[in-house]
Amino acid sequence: MVNKLNTDKLSVRLETVAKYVPKNSRVADIGSDHAYLPSYLVKNGQITFGIAGEVAKGPFQSAEKNVMAEGLSEMISVRMGDGLEVIQPGDADCITIAGMGGSLIASILESGKDKLAEVNRLILQPNINASAIRNWLVENNWELIAEEIIEEDSKIYEILVAERGEPLKPYREVSLENGLLVGPFLLQRKEKAFLKKWSLEKNNWKRIYEQLEGAAPTAETEEKKQEVLKKIALVEGVLDHEESEWS
Ligand code: SAM
Repeated sequence: MVNKLNTDKLSVRLETVAKYVPKNSRVADIGSDHAYLPSYLVKNGQITFGIAGEVAKGPFQSAEKNVMAEGLSEMISVRMGDGLEVIQPGDADCITIAGMGGSLIASILESGKDKLAEVNRLILQPNINASAIRNWLVENNWELIAEEIIEEDSKIYEILVAERGEPLKPYREVSLENGLLVGPFLLQRKEKAFLKKWSLEKNNWKRIYEQLEGAAPTAETEEKKQEVLKKIALVEGVLDHEESEWS
């Protein structure tokens, strides 16, 4: 049975992704699992056509089943395949990729670059390592136009929205290194979820540093220690004095 709650009402995380989908667009949702996002977008009259792309058989079948059960097969094409290989040029003008690691999202975009010619907007929700996506966007001439950070069920998520434009524009007001790591818009807003995320990351790196101090002093551990110290210093600079609640 289709769980009505999930196509009529999304999680706050997916709702935030949906908020950035332009009205009347043609969306390809890559890694669509149950096809909740495209189903919701069609049912809300927000998109004219959707593609639910899935690489794994089980999630592909459940996406197919849900789309059929909701009577949305004319509006949503469920396709099995790796990343952007499920779309043909002109199929979609907006791509959503949510609920995966940032490196995987960046590698999906990298391998499918030739499918992006007619795409105007990317809406990406990495669970971790959003900086891999920011780097990819800068290197590939996509301009980050908005960022959100939310906390839901004790997890913190970032949502990155990009369009073609000036890739370095959002980094004019911040240091490029800091902006790529934590997000140029998020860095300027410093919301509660942002401060919490980076305080937790910093504490985690401090723990890693302590473990490395206890390890045999090889060239490799020394190098790793310097890397971790750099990250701690970077995050301390970003957090300034605003983190006391989570320290
Ligand atoms: N996008 C949904 C969401 O945010 O709730 C589902 C997220 S689920 C954790 C990640 C999905 O991405 C899985 O169903 C997985 O099979 C799919 N996936 C992972 N790598 C993929 C790839 N290269 N191409 C297409 N789908 C992929």
